[in-house]
Amino acid sequence: MEKDVFCKIVDGEIPAHIVYEDDEIMAFLDISQVTKGHTLVIPKKHYDNFLSVPKELMHKVMDVAQRIGQAQITSLHANGVNILTNCYEAAGQTVKHFHVHVIPRFDANDALKIEFKENAAGINLPALKDEIKKSL
Ligand code: AMP
Repeated sequence: MEKDVFCKIVDGEIPAHIVYEDDEIMAFLDISQVTKGHTLVIPKKHYDNFLSVPKELMHKVMDVAQRIGQAQITSLHANGVNILTNCYEAAGQTVKHFHVHVIPRFDANDALKIEFKENAAGINLPALKDEIKKSL
């Protein structure tokens, strides 16, 4: 199987602007910089996405994501931060190596658009809740 781009960064085969690194976790600037400071946090070991990563490692990734979000507020003077992780292509995942986006927000007119449209008409919420609960 061909190595994904983040495994190549971990192995030093392609460059990245690394803001944090320990034995298990790495964080580096996203090449797209959707906003200034946009950072990705990954486990060094390959897992496809958030849904398949072991819990302890997921906790370590989220711990670093929290610290980076805090740093974006204090160092970059961001007014807010979005923490985002896409799972599978249908959700917009393009790199199949678990990663958490930590995206500082400065103003309402920046390049990131996240919109939660009202869409509950015709959905049976009690039945839907039961559908999800039965698999937990
Ligand atoms: P996603 O769509 O959630 O899979 O996000 C993948 C992200 O990886 C995108 O925001 C890309 O800009 C970013 N990306 C792809 N290649 C690189 C790279 N070589 N260095 C840093 N970020 C990258």
